[in-house]
Amino acid sequence: MNNDLLLVTNNEKYTAKLKAAFLARRPEINVLVAGDAGAEQAQMALCWHPEADLLTRYPNLKCLHSVAAGVDHLGAGLLTSGLPVCRVVDDHQKQGMLEYVLWGALTVQRNFDKISANQSESKWQGFRQRPASDIRVSVLGLGELGQFVARGLAQFGYRVSGWSRSPKTLNGIHCYHGQEGLGEMLKETELLVNLLPLSPATKGILNKDLFNKMPEGGYLINVGRGGHLIQEDLIESIDAGHLRGALLDVFNQEPLPATDPLWTTKGVTITPHLASDASLPTIIEQVADNVLSFVSKGELNNQIDLTNGY
Ligand code: NAP
Repeated sequence: MNNDLLLVTNNEKYTAKLKAAFLARRPEINVLVAGDAGAEQAQMALCWHPEADLLTRYPNLKCLHSVAAGVDHLGAGLLTSGLPVCRVVDDHQKQGMLEYVLWGALTVQRNFDKISANQSESKWQGFRQRPASDIRVSVLGLGELGQFVARGLAQFGYRVSGWSRSPKTLNGIHCYHGQEGLGEMLKETELLVNLLPLSPATKGILNKDLFNKMPEGGYLINVGRGGHLIQEDLIESIDAGHLRGALLDVFNQEPLPATDPLWTTKGVTITPHLASDASLPTIIEQVADNVLSFVSKGELNNQIDLTNGY
């Protein structure tokens, strides 16, 4: 057993940044990259979009660690390899996600989207001021991020519901689960926030059937993954006047190609996958602790449930 950690990302600069941060904060971790002597002996790999044949190239790996909260970037093959998979859970990231979603909620509540559209036409138009308690917000996914965001929105005065796979009871949040629960919740939803993990069960869930279950004038905030959204359905729903608009942070292809029609769809605001990052120091500390805990006790923190895939 050793303190080796193999870094596997799709970006050389990011790999170098991670390596330097481990050296500065946790020099007891022996960080290795492809081509280093002994890299094949590593038991844990820290991953961001690893190649699908990772385990063929590094057959001694016994654990895969995501650098992020999400694990979908590992791909179906690695997620079903049977190896334990860990992720990062960061309180600062939860706060950042709440800030981002609040921006979207305030946009809807105070009509800032319509006001900036008006400015581009030099148009002066007042809007009725609606209290937060007027706005029904629903959060898809009540995990680490979803619960924090739902509670924060409720504290801010919004009427908040949430949806998860298993039943939940959360103070101040109307909780739903299952397909029937989703339909019930959507009927009452003006602002829909997606914080689901991407899995075979949630891929494409933001589609026209779902939008049609929302009342006219609904708004979508997608901070989950691009794979959750059927883009054409969103554009159609907005163009038809059913949805008011959307705030989108994640896309099937990132960066979003300059020719993508989403850029020019009226009512759509695009941000380049920055809703909320896990902080680098937290990543380093949590991963280093997991390396040591795995080596000394065979124990791991923040493991995903391999059956559910998240
Ligand atoms: P999490 O703790 O794993 O929680 C996932 C939640 O989704 C749980 O409540 C789970 O239900 C629910 N869920 C999963 N599959 C479902 C299904 N088929 N039907 C209904 N509910 C389902 O995840 P998290 O840490 O909150 O993160 C959520 C996602 O946010 C990540 O996977 C990532 O994609 C995204 N994210 C985005 C950014 C960004 O900057 N845009 C940053 C961080 C994370 P149960 O509670 O019943 O298990």
